[in-house]
Amino acid sequence: MASDSIAPTVDGAAAPAGVTTTRPVAREQSPTSDVNHQVVFDVADLAVYYGAFRAVRDVNLQIRQREITAFIGPSGCGKSTVLRCFDRMNDLIDGARVEGQLLYHGVDLYDPRIDAVEVRKRVGMVFQKPNPFPKSIYDNIAFGPKLAGMKDNLDDLVEQALRRAALWDEVKDRLKASAMGLSGGQQQRLCIARAVAVQPEVVLMDEPCSALDPIATARIEDPMQEMKEDFTIIIVTHNMQQAARVSDRTAFFTTEVNPESDTRTGLLVEFEHTETIFSNPSDERTENYVTGRFG
Ligand code: ADP
Repeated sequence: MASDSIAPTVDGAAAPAGVTTTRPVAREQSPTSDVNHQVVFDVADLAVYYGAFRAVRDVNLQIRQREITAFIGPSGCGKSTVLRCFDRMNDLIDGARVEGQLLYHGVDLYDPRIDAVEVRKRVGMVFQKPNPFPKSIYDNIAFGPKLAGMKDNLDDLVEQALRRAALWDEVKDRLKASAMGLSGGQQQRLCIARAVAVQPEVVLMDEPCSALDPIATARIEDPMQEMKEDFTIIIVTHNMQQAARVSDRTAFFTTEVNPESDTRTGLLVEFEHTETIFSNPSDERTENYVTGRFG
């Protein structure tokens, strides 16, 4: 079981000088071969602005098919901002602007001819706070497929989506009950099922477990390993152990103070196989963060 291999750690908290720190241990895995995992998103020199404020800069990374990529780093370093670039959610924020290159299967995602609604059909999102519709469990899942014209075999589709999110066994006898009666963890798995029901290629997860207890968190993490057989997943997490447990590659972001103003801009420090980030990072800032000397 993946979680058994995790050593205790100081998660993101600053440790006093001289105190021995431990680091999360990535789950045992053979590093995924680049040949079998083609590039879905190719990001080069990406920066995102909110008005005149440059929130994050120097993002260079590749998201590979059927892998889980984790974004980690201290609060405010731009993880969610970068995540929202992949489904053009930043378009919905007044004043948000993206610079640099973000290719989706070689196509510029920010080309004016690209329809953001189409993008969001291929790239689904699960938010920090579970947000089920005030409808039945069944209707929550069936809503998206119906809208997309997928009218055949809806029952099968609903079952398959709920199984993928490891929720089926808990709800199969009360599909017509309101989704609002589910626990927080179940609601979040429902949201995952809802996201995968429309069969996107990519699922973005923005701190999906931050409101959940460890058991509910494990119930989200466990099905992720099966989900990645069919989906490409990017997860933002403030929890380093979670990144170590679930992801194949990890991007570490940090913030730097802008010398000309009192603001902080996020930047990507290092992007590597998860095992490398946690056991042998090449940048001192990554090392300090994963060992808990900096948070
Ligand atoms: P993280 O996810 O790493 O905590 P965010 O992406 O949420 O970081 O934020 C990065 C920076 O962008 C922060 O300085 C934050 O205050 C700013 N920011 C985030 N969202 C907005 C917004 N909608 N408008 C203005 N500034 C924002």
